[in-house]
This record gives sequence, structure tokens and C-alpha cells, in this order.
Amino acid sequence: MRLDVVTIFPEYLSPLDLSLIGKARREGLIDLAVHDLRYFTHDRHRTVDDNPYGGGAGMVMRPEPWGEALAHVMGAGEHGAVPHLLVPGPGGVRFTQAMARELAAEPWLAFACGRYEGIDERVVDEARCHMPVTVVSVGDYVLGGGEVAVLVMVEAIARLVPGVIGNADSLVEESHEDGLLEYPVFTKPPQWRGRGIPEVLLSGHHGQIARWRRDERLRRTALSRPDMIARLDPADLDARDREVLAEVAEVQACGGSQTQGTQFQADPPAVAD
Ligand code: SAM
Repeated sequence: MRLDVVTIFPEYLSPLDLSLIGKARREGLIDLAVHDLRYFTHDRHRTVDDNPYGGGAGMVMRPEPWGEALAHVMGAGEHGAVPHLLVPGPGGVRFTQAMARELAAEPWLAFACGRYEGIDERVVDEARCHMPVTVVSVGDYVLGGGEVAVLVMVEAIARLVPGVIGNADSLVEESHEDGLLEYPVFTKPPQWRGRGIPEVLLSGHHGQIARWRRDERLRRTALSRPDMIARLDPADLDARDREVLAEVAEVQACGGSQTQGTQFQADPPAVAD
């Protein structure tokens, strides 16, 4: 997969040299190029912004460097190939795991990191004449620039590219993959600060472990994200699923304080670190 990022802060993308993505780049699974928008300016001060037409606070990114930068990115395409351009913006379509999965199947993505009050609107309109363009929001809040949003998106997308994660099985039951959150996970030691782990996980009984995990996924999702439960297809729920959801609903109806997290631990003794 090829990824191009255009930004006025190329160093902001340096975390993409690390961890899984860094390794995937070194192994040639991900070909990532970061372009400095200022390289496409022609004045002494390498200006990328100007005052907004109509007045008001803040500055707007000028269209000319963006036009040149995107033409440069597209110029790398062979046989007429163009990237899918993703423009981070708080007004865009919400980035989700499903979108990450779709984008992970595409051969070439480009990202345009806005700053200030954003990019002159004509840049997106013009880009749409040359390539698919999606304005994408990573959440209902305002960041200072698109770079952090691109880090989020690239990390979520790249880990779904075949070969990037060694054991692809670890992606299957993850949160948001099938409409539920993940079950709680534990490792050694078996006792920590007076807290044990659920007996069933030590049982070696695969069927019971799978059932327990499914119960926990339903419980967690119902507690933290009832909106996700509401979107489940009832036909996908078995009798035990319905029982678990009914239990959670009953606890909540009685004003119970069941929280996300496991409920089977003894009170922890006060232990200093
Ligand atoms: N004035 C813009 C508005 O109110 O919609 C916000 C501009 S913001 C300060 C600057 C840049 O940060 C945006 O152009 C975009 O690249 C990025 N950005 C901010 N919030 C974002 C979000 N929730 N999702 C994705 N990108 C975001």
C-alpha cells in the first residue's frame, strides 16, 4: 500500500517510523512518503496561509501550494492511477473501524493535513475532478491540525493491511469489528494486588472460555455503548446472549452500579507500588 501525506509539519509524522508501521515500512508492506507543503511555495517566506475572505479570525491555507502538492503526489501514479484523497476535517464523515477496513484494501491513499482555519474550499472541489476525495473526521472535537488525525487513520488502516500484524487472528474479535467491544484480557501473574483472574480462563475448556468471552463482550458493550447494542441484528443473538443483555438491563433498571470491568475480584488490599 502506498501512502502520501502532505503537511507543513513533516516531523509530526515521525511516529510512523516506529512500532508496527515502522516495521511494515522497512519490510516494504507500506510505502509512506511525507511531503512538506512549503516546498510548493515560491515566495521568500514560503507562505501557505492568508486572511479569510469575508473577514473573521484566523488564517486560511492558500490553494496554490495545495494544487501543486497534490499534482506532485498524483504525478507518482503509473498508468493513470490516482490516490484516494483523505482530507481530515471536523465536518467530515466519521472515521470508523469499518472505514479503516475498506481503506486498507485500497492500493493508494493520500492525506492533506489542514492547519489554521482549514484549507481553501476550492482545493477539495478541484481535487474531486481528479481523484476520489473524502473529508474525514476522527471525532466531534477540533484539533489544531490534520496531522494527529492522519496518525490515527494511518495506524488504524495500516494494521489491517495483510502481513502488517503477524497473527491476523488477533484482529478478528477486536472492538468494533463485529459491532461489539472486546472482552477483558489478562496475563501473568495469576494474583496481583489481591486480584485474581476469572477461573474459567484457567480451565482449558475452550467452549466455556469462548462463551465467557462472548458474555463479557455483550456486557461491556451494553454498559459502555448501548448505541452499539441497539444496532445489533436480533437474529445474530442466541438465547444466552439475550439472557446476558437482560441481566445487564435489570441491573441498570435497579440503579445498579455495575461498571465496565470485571466484577469477580475480592476487595484489593491497600498496596503501595
Ligand atoms: N475551522 C475549522 C472548523 O471549525 O471546522 C477547524 C480547523 S482546525 C483548527 C485545523 C485542521 O485540523 C483542520 O483543517 C483539519 O485538518 C484538522 N482537524 C481538526 N479537527 C479535526 C477532526 N475532528 N478530525 C479530523 N481533522 C481535524
